[in-house]
Amino acid sequence: AKPLPLEKILFSQGFGTRRYCSDLVFSDLVKVNGVLAEDPDERILTEGLLLNVEGQDWEFHEKAYIAFHKPMNYECSHKTTHHPSIYSLLPKPFVERGLQCVGRLDFDTTGLILISDDGQFIHKMTTPKKNIGKVYQIATADPITQKQIDHLLKGVVLDDDPKPCYATACKQLSDRVLAMTIVEGRYHQVKRMMAAVGNHVAQLHRTEIGQYTLPLDLAEGQWRWLYPNDLIQLS
Ligand code: URA
Repeated sequence: AKPLPLEKILFSQGFGTRRYCSDLVFSDLVKVNGVLAEDPDERILTEGLLLNVEGQDWEFHEKAYIAFHKPMNYECSHKTTHHPSIYSLLPKPFVERGLQCVGRLDFDTTGLILISDDGQFIHKMTTPKKNIGKVYQIATADPITQKQIDHLLKGVVLDDDPKPCYATACKQLSDRVLAMTIVEGRYHQVKRMMAAVGNHVAQLHRTEIGQYTLPLDLAEGQWRWLYPNDLIQLS
């Protein structure tokens, strides 16, 4: 890749307008690979670039792909109605740069959600045609029966669509805990599927998308960059 002017790089990462980004450099608030930058027009190689802006380290990523562990009682939208937005838990440059959730989790669902500014990636991950499995850990109000599991695997019809939706895999983890894989992402899909088979979701947590598992050391409210070897697991 060609070297790019520093202020353009800062702008691309979401640090503000071009003007604001050059002012950051003039105010001695930007380091490039550990060295204080002086000239916003200086051309920099972006490969492996580590910036430090206003005291915060920042890896350069041309497109952002991140995994986020969504906590309870946050909404996955920019304009929320009853709860704070998950975007309030992310660094400001991400929001500035237009990062969007890949699908949504309900305000009371926890677990893995992907966030990106790559429209093609978001489309690829959300289209049901790709059959990308999403694994939910479901705590139910009532004990789970084999009959309910069979029904989920056979397919259930929800009220807004005659086309049934299926669990592609079910694994009962205990009396009232089920790990269920689905490939679509219809509105309240898991809750509605469980209701349709005569149970009720008490708690919902997403643990996996494709072959990518929510890292055990990623606490609620934390995020991390996804690298090419992580992205392979998503396809
Ligand atoms: N299904 C639901 O019902 N809720 C979610 O948040 C995700 C899947």
